[in-house]
Amino acid sequence: MRWLLVLIGMWVWPFSALAGGFDVVALGAHGGLEDGNLSAYLVRPIGEDRGVLCDAGTIFNGLEMAERRGAVSAIAIPPGTSWTRSGYIAREVVKGYLISHAHLDHVAGLLVLSPDDAPKPIYALASTNRAISQHLFNGAIWPNMGDRGNSPRIGLYHYRDLSIAVSISIDGTNLRVTAYPLSHGGIASTAFLIENGSDALLYLGDTGPDDIEHSHALHALWQAIALRLQAHRLKAIMVECSYDDSRPDQLLFGHLSPHWLLRELREMQKIGGVSLKGLPVLVTHIKPTLKAAPAPERTILSELEAGNSGLGVRFVIAEQGAHWMWR
Ligand SMILES: [Zn+2]
Ligand SMILES: [Zn+2]
Repeated sequence: MRWLLVLIGMWVWPFSALAGGFDVVALGAHGGLEDGNLSAYLVRPIGEDRGVLCDAGTIFNGLEMAERRGAVSAIAIPPGTSWTRSGYIAREVVKGYLISHAHLDHVAGLLVLSPDDAPKPIYALASTNRAISQHLFNGAIWPNMGDRGNSPRIGLYHYRDLSIAVSISIDGTNLRVTAYPLSHGGIASTAFLIENGSDALLYLGDTGPDDIEHSHALHALWQAIALRLQAHRLKAIMVECSYDDSRPDQLLFGHLSPHWLLRELREMQKIGGVSLKGLPVLVTHIKPTLKAAPAPERTILSELEAGNSGLGVRFVIAEQGAHWMWR
């Protein structure tokens, strides 16, 4: 019997190895100001039509934009479905939500989509699920679509509390997730390590630098992923850089700016003991400005590149409706 299992394992392994890597579509890329373009990323194993949404600031508008840009054209929509392409993806391709924290720019899309959504889990740290169930899906701000809190409970969403550093599988997908806490201006935010077989992707919700937050959260995160880094299993990082370097430290409000992000990446490289050269770093959560000034994206990218010589990572600025494959 054992030999039979070994033989089956040998037969299956090369095929599952082929399905590695991550397909990521930005449904919303910004960290404020622009309703209709707030943090949300559809993450799937490459070639698979079942994935998870990392944060949910914008869903429907982002799917429409992604469709116009051809970023979701590879997703197979069953013939005869009664849903639009965006409707089918929102309901059936997104198998669950990973919510880093309950700030509105990370959940607004989930709230407004919920009356038309299909049942699914919300995966988050207990403190985030508590904030969502007490302050958002509470019958006052919005109907209680969840399975906790004030009655009447519609129960469309099942809260799944994640334990720190404990890997669980994401129902209905071939992905696993492990949560690590981040410090975000006095509240807990979350980093999600998402795994597809032996490949890993790290998504960070909002976070400030350890030095300003008086925290060890990022230091502990870099330690937690060091072995995967050394094994070249980490395929990309998605991390915020909300402001450019003209932002004074005392006004970061739990966010990163380029010199702080560079410092943290250098720390990650040091703790991992391996070069980050060539590692894709998707820069998320840039805050647009109302000022008549150049777009902050350009400034932030040039400040990051100016400090990148010792690292050699591949900085990419997140853009709504854009699509990446990392393997
Ligand atoms: Zn945010
Ligand atoms: Zn936030």
